[in-house]
Amino acid sequence: MTLAHNFHPTVLREYDIRGIIGKTLTTDDARAIGRGFGTMVVRGGGKKVAIGYDGRLSSPDLEAAAVEGLKSVGLHVVRIGLGPTPMLYFTARHLKLDAGMMITGSHNPPDYNGFKMMIGKAPFFGSQILEIGKIAAAGDFATGEGSEETIDIQDTYVDRLAADYDGTRDLNVVWDNGNGAAGEILRRLVKKLPGKHTLLFDDIDGTFPNHHPDPTIPENLEDIIHKVAEEKADLGIAFDGDADRIGAVDEKGRIVWGDQLVAIYSKDVLAAHPGATIIADVKASQTLFDQIAKLGGKPLMWKTGHSLLKAKMAETNSPLAGEMSGHIFFADKYYGFDDALYCAVRLLGLVSRHGELSALRDELPDVLNTPEVRFQVSEERKFAAVEEIKARVKAEEAAGGAEVNDIDGVRVKTADGWWLLRASNTQDVLVARAEAFSPEGLERLKDAIKDNLAKSGIAAPADF
Ligand SMILES: [Zn+2]
Repeated sequence: MTLAHNFHPTVLREYDIRGIIGKTLTTDDARAIGRGFGTMVVRGGGKKVAIGYDGRLSSPDLEAAAVEGLKSVGLHVVRIGLGPTPMLYFTARHLKLDAGMMITGSHNPPDYNGFKMMIGKAPFFGSQILEIGKIAAAGDFATGEGSEETIDIQDTYVDRLAADYDGTRDLNVVWDNGNGAAGEILRRLVKKLPGKHTLLFDDIDGTFPNHHPDPTIPENLEDIIHKVAEEKADLGIAFDGDADRIGAVDEKGRIVWGDQLVAIYSKDVLAAHPGATIIADVKASQTLFDQIAKLGGKPLMWKTGHSLLKAKMAETNSPLAGEMSGHIFFADKYYGFDDALYCAVRLLGLVSRHGELSALRDELPDVLNTPEVRFQVSEERKFAAVEEIKARVKAEEAAGGAEVNDIDGVRVKTADGWWLLRASNTQDVLVARAEAFSPEGLERLKDAIKDNLAKSGIAAPADF
C-alpha cells in the first residue's frame, strides 16, 4: 500500500496551510501533513514535536489525525490541547522541543481551518510548505515508532506572561476575546494582573456567534469600543481567533493600529536596547519609522508577511518587530514570536507607567491614511504590473523625483507623504495604500497610484 497523498492545489500556501473543511481540507490531509512535516523534522535530526489546536469545531479531529501522522514517522508528540497559537510556540521553546504544529484557522470564517508550523526557533514557510506537498505526492515519508504524551502547560504559560507585567498604577481594562482560542488563558491571566478587568466573549466558540475574530476590521471592534466607554476603561485589547494578532482601543475609543502599537512599544524597548534595529512592514506608517529614529533606534522597513518579519528579526538581532495586521514580535525579554497575550501585558505596563494610551498614541503626528485597498488583478499580471511601475518610478527617481523603496512592491515617498503598490503573495490581488500630511496631498498620492495603474492597463478600484 502506498501512502502517497495529493493535496487540493489551493491548500499549501506561502505562510501556512489553509483550506475549507470537507471541501479542500480533510482529516486525511491532516494525517498526510503530520507525516510530511514530521518527515522533514526527523530528517533534520528532530525527535520531539508539540501540537495544539484552536477552538474551531473541526480542530480536534484534525489534531488527532495529525498526531497519527507525526507518530508514524517516529516522533514523540507532546499534545497541549486547546489554546492560542502563541501557547504552542511557547511550549516548543520553553520545553526545548524540535518543532511545533498548530491547528488553527486564525481569523478566517468558521468553515476554514489550517496549520501553522515551526522547526527549531524558526518559522516554517514558503518552499518548506511546498516540500510537504512533494514528500506526500511521492509517498516519501519517514517511518518509525512514535509515542505521545498529553500535558497541561496553561499555568506555566500564564505565569510566564504575567511575569513581565511592570505596571505601577492599577488599570481598568476591557478585553475582547471574540470567542477565540485564548479564552481560558485570558481568564487565568487577568487573575494574575492587578486592576479591574472586564472580559467580552471569553467563551471559546468556533462558530464565532458575536463578531468575527479579526481586530483589523473596525466593525469587529465596535463592541469593545462601546464597552470601554461604558466602563470608563483605560484601554481595550482584542485578539484574533488564535491570539497571534492584537488590536487595541484607547480610553477615548479610538483604534490604535498595529504600527502605532509598535511605535509605542519602541519607547520601552529602545530604552532597554539603545540604538537597536526595529522592523516594520512596508504597509506601516512613516510616522512609525520616524518615531523609531527619534527614539535613537534604527528603523528597518521589510517585506509584509509575519514569517518574513520573524526571519529578518533573527537575522538582524532585532528586539522588536511588527506589522499593520497586528502581528507583533518581542525578542526583548521574550522569545521573538507573535504572541498577542504577551503584547497585551507589555502594553498594560506601558500605559500604567506612562499615563493614558491616547497620550502615547498622540506622540505620533496626525496623518491621513487610505485603508489597505485590495483589488483583483490576474495572477499572471500582478507581479509584472508591479515590475513595470517600479521601473517607471525608478526612472523618475533617477531624474530627481520621489524616493523609491522596492523591498516589497513599490513604496514611493514624496513631499506629500507616500504611496504603496504591492502584489499579494497569497491572492490574485494588488494592494494599494497612501498616507499624507494633508487632504490635498492624499489626493495627489492617490492620483499617482491611479496614473501608474492606468499606464499599466489596470483600472483602479472605484472607491479609491
Ligand atoms: Zn491569527
